[in-house]
Amino acid sequence: MIVTVQKFGGTSVSDEIGRRHVLRHIVRERNNDRGLVVVVSAMGRRGEPYATDTLLDLIRRNGNGLQDRERDLLLSCGEIISASALTSLLNAEGIPATMLTGGQAGIITDGRFGSAHILDVKPAAIRSHLETGKVVVVAGFQGRTEEGEITTLGRGGSDTTATALGAALHAEVVDIFTDVDGILTADPRVVKDARPLPVVSYEEISNMAHNGAKVIHPRAVEIAMKAGVPIRVRSTFSDGEGTLVTYSEAARSRPGWTDRTVTGLAHFQGVTQLSVTSDNAPYDLQLRVFRAMAANGISVDLINVMPSAVHYTVKEADTDAAIRLLRELGFEPRVIPGCAKLSVIGGGMNGQPGVMAKIVEALTNRQISILQSADSNTTIWVLVSETEMAAALEALHAAFELHIA
Ligand code: ADP
Ligand code: MG
Repeated sequence: MIVTVQKFGGTSVSDEIGRRHVLRHIVRERNNDRGLVVVVSAMGRRGEPYATDTLLDLIRRNGNGLQDRERDLLLSCGEIISASALTSLLNAEGIPATMLTGGQAGIITDGRFGSAHILDVKPAAIRSHLETGKVVVVAGFQGRTEEGEITTLGRGGSDTTATALGAALHAEVVDIFTDVDGILTADPRVVKDARPLPVVSYEEISNMAHNGAKVIHPRAVEIAMKAGVPIRVRSTFSDGEGTLVTYSEAARSRPGWTDRTVTGLAHFQGVTQLSVTSDNAPYDLQLRVFRAMAANGISVDLINVMPSAVHYTVKEADTDAAIRLLRELGFEPRVIPGCAKLSVIGGGMNGQPGVMAKIVEALTNRQISILQSADSNTTIWVLVSETEMAAALEALHAAFELHIA
């Protein structure tokens, strides 16, 4: 049986209007000879009654007195409620449907509560329900261990559920429905001119996702890529085709592909820059610094090493601990909190001269200073002050003409 997987995010299922749109996509896709699996996230965002963050607030108010294992039981409820609401709507509309928790759907994970990794997917239960002609609604973001403990997959977990099921069922496509028209050239909440891309490669979106584009979780992309299952990222609230994600060779031959140096921009906020300089630096300055960070579980990024200096960044939350460790080593770091890491991403920039020059020019023209930079063959990163982040992204978006198809 040919199977399609559809995933609907939190904003898509949060209210009656959203659920009506969801219904429309299910009705359109449903077909007697095919199987349809629908993965749902919890309903809405913090403050709304059944949203995951609301459930978390509930135990926070009570002093957080739950073990990780018990917390995952609570967290898994949001998606179960959401799946129940949709299943009942489908049945009421005359569309035969049934629902499964992640564990019942065969998602087997390790025991890392709160951020479990999928070890195996056993799709037998889904298949047997599909054979009866029912739409199978699966609660996203969760699985179970071999021993039967309920686990959750961490942020973006429903994306991972969808592509893992898509891979196990050899789905024709996994449709990720969300509140924007697809994968855009930048986060539309920051860059007004951001434009949906008709087609991108797995590598490009994985790179964008790793660099902060939260439209899809990077782990979900990697699972689909390994299995060769195409993804479409599209809007719940329209009938647009959205963005097709496939292998780069296949992407190139698709309508809508343009040979481009830069595909898109991504960003992370909440970054602190640390610089350690020393005139009479010990020969192993860098080793001491990075060993101390690693031993204390602080991940470091944007590392520039020079003979008697080292510059790097840490997450805002790790700043105080990092400064304390450096002082213990006898160093007084220069600290710049409130930074944003911007990524200029494109599979086509490999070997193209002038990309960095264009970035520097775009930012300099707006008097935005670059605190640090780094590059790989598909990405250039620049660190700027958070207060200049939006202006910097707008400037880069314009400089690379990303608003033009
Ligand atoms: P869902 O609840 O459907 O999973 P998310 O909030 O996780 O939705 O992801 C969708 C959001 O991702 C969009 O509303 C948008 O603000 C953000 N986003 C960030 N970067 C991009 C990008 N490059 N393209 C599209 N959306 C992006
Ligand atoms: Mg999401």
